[in-house]
Amino acid sequence: MRATVLVIACCLAIAGVAVGQQPPQTNPYVEKIVKEISAKNIQASVEKLVSFGTRHTLSDTLSETRGIGATRRWIKSEFERYGKGSSGRLVVEFQESTVLPSQRVPTPTRIVNVLATLKPAQDGLSAGRTIIVSGHYDTRASSPMDVKSDAPGADDDGSGVALVLELARVMSKYEFDVTIIFGAFAVEEQGLFGATALADWAKRQSVNVEAVFNNDMVGSTVDGSGTKENGFVRLFSEAFTPLDTGAVLRQRISLGLENDGGSRTLARYIKEIGERYNPEFGVQLIYRLDRFLRGGDHRPFHERGFRAVRFCEVKENYDRQHQDVRTENGKEYGDLPKFVDYEYCAQVARVNAAGIATLGRGPQPPTKVEVLTARLENDSELRWQKNPEGDLAGYLVRYRQTSSPVWEHSVFTADTTIALKVSKDDFLFGVQAVDKEGNASLVTLPRPSGRQ
Ligand SMILES: [Zn+2]
Repeated sequence: MRATVLVIACCLAIAGVAVGQQPPQTNPYVEKIVKEISAKNIQASVEKLVSFGTRHTLSDTLSETRGIGATRRWIKSEFERYGKGSSGRLVVEFQESTVLPSQRVPTPTRIVNVLATLKPAQDGLSAGRTIIVSGHYDTRASSPMDVKSDAPGADDDGSGVALVLELARVMSKYEFDVTIIFGAFAVEEQGLFGATALADWAKRQSVNVEAVFNNDMVGSTVDGSGTKENGFVRLFSEAFTPLDTGAVLRQRISLGLENDGGSRTLARYIKEIGERYNPEFGVQLIYRLDRFLRGGDHRPFHERGFRAVRFCEVKENYDRQHQDVRTENGKEYGDLPKFVDYEYCAQVARVNAAGIATLGRGPQPPTKVEVLTARLENDSELRWQKNPEGDLAGYLVRYRQTSSPVWEHSVFTADTTIALKVSKDDFLFGVQAVDKEGNASLVTLPRPSGRQ
């Protein structure tokens, strides 16, 4: 759960490897971004969001002080304020669509995501690669259809939106090779419609969405029994998507890759990078799409084949979630700002920042990665296509026991082939591209190749 130990494989395990100059494991540029995250700013944003009374999807859209309309105009103005320090690279917009009547939306309803898109610093090779980080700004009271009562949603999901705002504030001053979309989504509580609208757009436009970091309830550290946990966050990911069917599914299972789908690979990456840059805070991988009886905005992305994960606090408090604000028998109910642990939320923000910044400055994942299976032998040979980036240092070849949840071994090479003195039957392999700053890409898992 805590800092992952990166084991550099002993030279004896390597045969005929052209080992180049291994770059550092941490990048001062990313460290600087992580250090700038402020719990105070997150608190101010949560308190402002709560001040709109309710952010129910069907609440007032015209008032300047109450309801969903005032909320989204304020979020937009915040993004625009941060954009002033971005040299015109942060583009802020409302993404509008109409939800047709459904179980929790009785009439056709205009819904609005607030998006701030940070353009890449230059129009290079990675400009089309896109990372999305999100929270949802709508809330609900005890009844999902109650549009009048206060529904403060400080934790659900004021914490996620405040985290996204803080990342936009900090990161828009820095330069990345990729496009980063900071999203405050609408209508999560009534059926994930806001996130679905963006996921559909990304699919239609064939956007190269490399990763979705969804943050939903990332500020509670005390549960209903009073037990506290503030040392780690849960990261939910599902191994398979509904698109993994037929021959694709059969091959994945026969290769023992049932634990290495896109979203799971992303989760493993975030844990490793997050704990490296912020060693005192852990990331617990949860091998599930989400919690029982609950859903989240990563789901529409995951179901469309994008890598998408959800951050969620460890100690959920059911006296506060989806509850009318009230006191009964001396007990306070409701999702109020005083119950949010802002330093905890900032820690989750730092994990997000480390992962997004590393991916955003790093190379694209290697392509055409193959494990050679032409002969029966006890060693393992891999090869892959050379990455096109000019600042590339080389590749990290990763491997682990088939039963291990995280990568255990790491070998650096500047070459595009490697021979390892371990059996391909007994390990899972992957290859990451790494640049001279030390930013590593996502891991690409090899396909078997019978060619020599
Ligand atoms: Zn939520």
